[in-house]
Amino acid sequence: MRIQFFQWSRRSLCGPASFSIARSVAGAFLISAATAACLGWDYEGHRLVNQIALASLPTNFPAFARQAETQERIAFLGGEPDRWRNTPDLPLKHVNSPDHYIDLEDLIPHRMAATNLSHFRYDFLAQAAVSRAANQAQLPLIDPVKDLDRTKALIGFLPWTITEYYAKLKSDFSCLSAFEAGGTPEEIANAQQNIAYLMGTMGHFVGDAAQPLHTTKHYNGWVGENPHGYTTNLTFHSWIDGGYLRKVGVQFADRVQVKRVAEL
Ligand SMILES: [Zn+2]
Repeated sequence: MRIQFFQWSRRSLCGPASFSIARSVAGAFLISAATAACLGWDYEGHRLVNQIALASLPTNFPAFARQAETQERIAFLGGEPDRWRNTPDLPLKHVNSPDHYIDLEDLIPHRMAATNLSHFRYDFLAQAAVSRAANQAQLPLIDPVKDLDRTKALIGFLPWTITEYYAKLKSDFSCLSAFEAGGTPEEIANAQQNIAYLMGTMGHFVGDAAQPLHTTKHYNGWVGENPHGYTTNLTFHSWIDGGYLRKVGVQFADRVQVKRVAEL
């Protein structure tokens, strides 16, 4: 992951500005997730992931993203997609919740391979629906009463969510370049705020992807056959996300100091 970020940073010195900057941003958020793979993912954890990403940005990154107010906004937005989960609004739960995970084991009864999935979200969804229909006997029955937001049949979209945010970020950096070349101060400020919003929310999902429990159906303790005696405690996930971090003394400092990749 560090090598990948370094390559992207190097590219930012020679490629088209907006595209390269977007890659640097995505790289920074990816490296932060990798660095924080043992860290937390409640609000404090997600905030920390975004802060580490910001501290990892190259020194030639646009100044607006290095302003304290913008950095606080991006750190705060690290918790935003989880705030959307705390809603009784079923259409929002339906569209938002599967963006936070992918239950990789669920590919097996669908007879799908992780190496053979469409990178287009809706094509993947169609693939999964066809596979589900063809392999009903392998799949657990879903109680509709416990599936009011209609997400239990979904494998999850986390990799697609990150890919889509990355594309949005590239798009918004291109728009910022265009506004800087011929737009009004208000248009430039709005474009910058849009980028900050995308950086903050994308950072949340990259942080989720660094949390192994967001890639498994055993996310709330082991389910099914359990020959190795793994925990089935339903509070396991929330304990890892917060309690474990406090237990080992992780400090959630307001300002995070990390070595820049070029210094490593
Ligand atoms: Zn999440």
